[in-house]
Amino acid sequence: MTVQTIRMIGDPVLRQVAQPVDPAEIATAEVQSLIDDLVETMRAANGAGLAAPQIGVSRRIVVMEVTDNPRYPYKPRIPLTVAVNPELLPLDGETVEINEGCLSVPLRGDVVRHVNLRVRYLDRHGVPHDEVVRGLTAGTWQHECDHLDGVLIVDRVADTRSLATWDEFSRHQRDAFVTRITEFVERAGS
Ligand code: ZN
Repeated sequence: MTVQTIRMIGDPVLRQVAQPVDPAEIATAEVQSLIDDLVETMRAANGAGLAAPQIGVSRRIVVMEVTDNPRYPYKPRIPLTVAVNPELLPLDGETVEINEGCLSVPLRGDVVRHVNLRVRYLDRHGVPHDEVVRGLTAGTWQHECDHLDGVLIVDRVADTRSLATWDEFSRHQRDAFVTRITEFVERAGS
């Protein structure tokens, strides 16, 4: 397991459409070690998720994990999840505006996400999963899967005036966002 360098906006690999993984390939040392590197790199960076293109590998694999993270005190926990070839299907038209950051982008901004989502994927053992995720957890899935299509938060920000560095966000917008999103999480239960 190796902590890899996280690619930053401007690196062409972040703009490619990532290639699917052949299910027969999941058990190979190459794919397993890629998954280990993704998990290690995400944890080292204190991220909630990481997609393979962010460490320079254009394959359809994402990892997510939210524990008690001081960086995201409002985020419901997500157990360590490895998703190979994930597919997202919105369940309805309900949306929420979430202020998101990204390890590959030095700015945060407000992004509109689906609240209720069906997710289908293979785990690191090749076992198929078909689940429903909601709220901020659904937002995290959409953020990570966007990376597999070469999409970054700056493409999704409707009002570019919401863009802020982490420092300025903490200084000027964080309290209001945490209050609003905590109410949303309590209402949505996720
Ligand atoms: Zn990201």
